Amino acid sequence: MTGLSDAFNRPINYLRISVTDRCNLRCTYCLPAEGTRLLPHSEILTYEEIATIARLAAELGINKLRLTGGEPLVRAKLTELVAMLAEISTIDDISLTTNGILLKDYASELAQAGLKRVNISLDSLRRDKFERITRHRKLSEVLQGIEAAKACGLSPVKINMVVMRGINDDELVDFANLTIAEGWHVRFIELMPFATENPPEGHSTGGKTNLHPQFMPAQEITRHLSGLGTLEPCLPIAGNGPAKYFRFPHATGTIGFITPVSQHFCFNCNRLRLTAEGRLRPCLLSDEEVDLRQPLRDGAPPQELKQAITEAIRRKPGKHHLSEGATTQKRHMSQVGG
Ligand code: SAM
Repeated sequence: MTGLSDAFNRPINYLRISVTDRCNLRCTYCLPAEGTRLLPHSEILTYEEIATIARLAAELGINKLRLTGGEPLVRAKLTELVAMLAEISTIDDISLTTNGILLKDYASELAQAGLKRVNISLDSLRRDKFERITRHRKLSEVLQGIEAAKACGLSPVKINMVVMRGINDDELVDFANLTIAEGWHVRFIELMPFATENPPEGHSTGGKTNLHPQFMPAQEITRHLSGLGTLEPCLPIAGNGPAKYFRFPHATGTIGFITPVSQHFCFNCNRLRLTAEGRLRPCLLSDEEVDLRQPLRDGAPPQELKQAITEAIRRKPGKHHLSEGATTQKRHMSQVGG
């Protein structure tokens, strides 16, 4: 049992660490085609600084870490960070969220350094559509990355697909079939509206926004799959994240639904986020942040840094307000650490 809990008595034991705001894709729903300000290197936490924060958070009760970004594998020598984090004795799960492009090069060394498992984002199995969504021609690299992760025992490999009406909803059955034919663990994620200075088409700004025009609720996604058989509820394959899991009879793989919009799971939220420049973010969908980099670089004692971590947890809101039209104002998902 964790020693950390927030003002709503939610146990907090999970830290998601963004190691970079850079990405080798530019998915249409995540980043504008061009023109985002990237953090200079000096503003990004060093691996030593990240490990210090993780160690203090672990002393407070965090026991699960996930590396994300931006694209975490574009940051040089990520394996060194994994090895540093794996040395923290009370951390029992280190995982990675990646677009998979560079995974074939790093899967083996990451596994040896102590990485337990990976989630791979993949929104289309079709070359042309993959390129349309990500603005890059890299599908075969991602597919090789999935195989490399499996071969290295980074399991279970979970495939995350952001479902977009009129864009990739015609592939829902193809993804679901892979849970039967290949034992894939696929998670369908509802598209969240993010208010940014360069919003996607049809998207309003200013912190108030309607649902994204491409949003498709999980209930409707399920209807698309009805021809494949009855989805039976099942236990999560690993982790205790927000997905609800199901499987088709005889499938070795599973189907998860992550429903931040149609059915929020804030009551169960156990996480904190650390941005690449060292700000703790209590909620993905609120702009509240607590800076750790400045006190860390000013030589603040561990106790003061721990107080800042506890303060971020204290500020965790009870729930987000997407359903009332409110979303973040300041950051793209790639800058928060999705
Ligand atoms: N580059 C890594 C990757 O692709 O997995 C990690 C960062 S990425 C921002 C993390 C996840 O956030 C991806 O699965 C991506 O699809 C998801 N994501 C980004 N913007 C989103 C949005 N508006 N709604 C739902 N999911 C989103």
